[in-house]
Amino acid sequence: MAAPWEDVLRNEAAVQEAARVAVDAALLAGVLMRTEGEPNASDVVNYAPFTLLPSAVPSALFEQAYAVQQDFNLLVDAISQNKEFLEHTLASTIKVDDFTARLFRIYMQVLEEGLAQSVFLGINRSDYMFDCGVDGTPALKQIEINTIAASFGGLTSRTAAVHGQVLKVLGKSEEASRLLPNNPSKGLALGIAKAWELYGSPSAVVMFLVEEVQRNIFDQRCVENELWNRNIRVIRRRFRDVFEKGSLDNARRLYMDGQEVAVVYYREGYVPKNYDQQNWEARLLLERSRAVKCPDIATQLAGTKKVQQELSQPGTLERLLPDRAEAVARIRATFAGLYSLDVGKEGDRMAAVAIADPDRFVLKPQREGGGNNLYGEELRQVLEKIRDSPERTSYILMDKIQPQPAMNYLLRAHSPLQVSECISELGIFGVYVRQGKEMVMNKAAGHLLRTKAIEHADGGVAAGVAVLDTPYLV
Ligand code: ADP
Ligand code: MG
Repeated sequence: MAAPWEDVLRNEAAVQEAARVAVDAALLAGVLMRTEGEPNASDVVNYAPFTLLPSAVPSALFEQAYAVQQDFNLLVDAISQNKEFLEHTLASTIKVDDFTARLFRIYMQVLEEGLAQSVFLGINRSDYMFDCGVDGTPALKQIEINTIAASFGGLTSRTAAVHGQVLKVLGKSEEASRLLPNNPSKGLALGIAKAWELYGSPSAVVMFLVEEVQRNIFDQRCVENELWNRNIRVIRRRFRDVFEKGSLDNARRLYMDGQEVAVVYYREGYVPKNYDQQNWEARLLLERSRAVKCPDIATQLAGTKKVQQELSQPGTLERLLPDRAEAVARIRATFAGLYSLDVGKEGDRMAAVAIADPDRFVLKPQREGGGNNLYGEELRQVLEKIRDSPERTSYILMDKIQPQPAMNYLLRAHSPLQVSECISELGIFGVYVRQGKEMVMNKAAGHLLRTKAIEHADGGVAAGVAVLDTPYLV
């Protein structure tokens, strides 16, 4: 994909001027983040990092990603209801990965007690890169699917307008008019609102479960405001608050400070550092409750890297989605090579292959949030160290996707303006609501494009590596 803005990139004066306009437009549009120095105060805020120019995305792959999203929603939901599959798939992982094991224990505990929850809400984001094959034709390849706390649906709802203005300043108003409108925060809120309505208690609130450090609050506020606009009350609480003040009545209705909670929307709870003993207890209380959890613990487990790897095994998708051959084919077409490192011959073989040729692979632990994967020489060293230990089963191996880089400017507060060679990752938001056995909503809710300089192998926007972008379809 050649950048459509070659002429602009060479015109330094035009770039400087456009960057000034871009930053002010971002601030005005609300593309905001709290600062590293004051992560819990809104007195000082800055713009969230973003690209100066929208990045080229092949329109066929963009459409393919949208077209497969409802299939992925169905798949995640099916996995979340399949105890045998989760048990079998995660059996080796939970022996060595304490975090997954603790989530799994809660999962088993709530199943044994019997679920009080009957309405289910899934909000996920399936992420892709455009892999350049040997002949240079790009293909859509899934990086992962995020089933908990998938972020930036709010801020990205505002980037197209910023990029549109930048293009106009650069004399490209025709191109500006081709940028697609995009509003995931509205789609996410519609899902939450539907779940709230089906829960059936008009005085109940929606609780956003948030982290101690809340730099990305404005992204969440975009979704919150959509709910307030629909006259749905929203409260924000931390695990600590739930531990101190949360309670269940004898029908396992969840109460916070005397208010009944209809929906718990997790923007927290996806990495080990989110938990101490009290937070684990709070998590268990929430999972036992009748409130709609987004996601419930089963759906969080459905988003693990180990499950992703298992899905790529022959026959697995067919078993999970029987009688849906077309959906299975659409899903499978997005898979890159994924390999188990479980103890046994096949795991031994793949470990040896990766050690011999580490640049072909990514080594992934069961973690979220960016910055956890291993590449190249580091991958080789770690794998060599653990190749004969069961510890290796806490990882999966994945083929490394090789996108075609393009030049862009990454605008980041307090950083000099310089051109970088970049690659992009496209995410599609999925939203679904199930009541008992019946799917009552299943949608693609919008997209997110994140772009990073090629020298960073890993890391998202929150990790300070990638920046927000807007797709320019070519
Ligand atoms: P996390 O849960 O930490 O977000 P990801 O699987 O999304 O884990 O990986 C983090 C980042 O690493 C991605 O955003 C992407 O930039 C890079 N990455 C992950 N898998 C691959 C891959 N197979 N090929 C190339 N880059 C990858
Ligand atoms: Mg990711």
